[in-house]
Amino acid sequence: MERVIQTLLTWYNLRARNLPWRETSDPYRIWLSEVILQQTRVAQGMDYYHKFVEKCKNVNELASLDEAEVLKLWQGLGYYSRARNLHKAAQKVVDVFGGQFPKELDELQNLPGVGEYTSNAIRAFAFNLPAVAIDGNVKRVSSRWFGVDIPINKSEFSREIYPWLMKYCEESEQPNLFNQALIELGAMVCTPTNPKCGECPLNESCFANLQKRQNDFPVLEKKKKPLEVRYQYVALHFRGNWAMYCRPDTEIWAKLYEFPLQVVASETDTGIDSWLENLPWIESGIIKGRKEFKHQLTHRTIRATCWVVEMGDKRGERLSPENETKLYPLMEPYQWVREVDMELFPIHRLMEKMMKFAKDCISS
Ligand code: SF4
Repeated sequence: MERVIQTLLTWYNLRARNLPWRETSDPYRIWLSEVILQQTRVAQGMDYYHKFVEKCKNVNELASLDEAEVLKLWQGLGYYSRARNLHKAAQKVVDVFGGQFPKELDELQNLPGVGEYTSNAIRAFAFNLPAVAIDGNVKRVSSRWFGVDIPINKSEFSREIYPWLMKYCEESEQPNLFNQALIELGAMVCTPTNPKCGECPLNESCFANLQKRQNDFPVLEKKKKPLEVRYQYVALHFRGNWAMYCRPDTEIWAKLYEFPLQVVASETDTGIDSWLENLPWIESGIIKGRKEFKHQLTHRTIRATCWVVEMGDKRGERLSPENETKLYPLMEPYQWVREVDMELFPIHRLMEKMMKFAKDCISS
């Protein structure tokens, strides 16, 4: 065991990439990087990490932002509940722990959005305490290294390998380096396809390599097919204003803004009856464009149609610029938002694409 650990740590010290969150033991920065990197590639996560650290140097500064500001910083990363939990956890660290991250597992796991992986990562990377952070990379390495055929997307897998990895971690006496090394190995050497066993520090003790069965591990349980949903959006434009609303708390993309939406049953259903019922004046608008979008979320495939509708001036009606949108009154929860103010409103990736399309339609 001692020899394997030594080889692994030497390999890490020689080959590891320089990543900003590896050069710190500040629990705030480590926690931030771990939350950002869940479901996100390092290259993409890096920009967001820098953006957050630049805006908020510590947990107190993050806690003092408005939720909308946090969502705006997060915009484009997806899985927005992570951003909301990030903000709530920051507030809890400030309110309950005086701005100092706790070290105890149960206290860490009581922070919103901090589960088993993140709490162990904070304990190992920030406090160098014996803990194993089992992410997707570590699962792949371990399943091949130990030859475990339990599907890695089942919780039994982590329960099975945790004690084995913990033994190595304790023996290493360097939990921080040991965890970083396993994660790096999964990212750079023990890759999903074509693992580079020839250069792997574990190759002499690896079950899959010794048996030449690298392709048999990890085992994955088949996931259910994502549910397909159909949305009809209407991008309503009037003199530099867009109709928008804030999505409710209880749904996906909670508290993000988007164009008015109808959930419809089929491709041919335009939801037009309910538009006319709620916004009767929409009938006088001019359709400037229509486009289909497909947007994939983990458990859902969204097929969205975006209609771009321009409302014209009404003859004889003269109102000051502040009051002009009263020509076309919107009911709750919709509101007119000036295009120049859009930067203040957090939006999701699909909405970003539709907004670009809608603007192009209006300007052409
Ligand atoms: S020897 Fe090959 S299969 Fe085994 S851990 Fe290393 S890279 Fe992965």
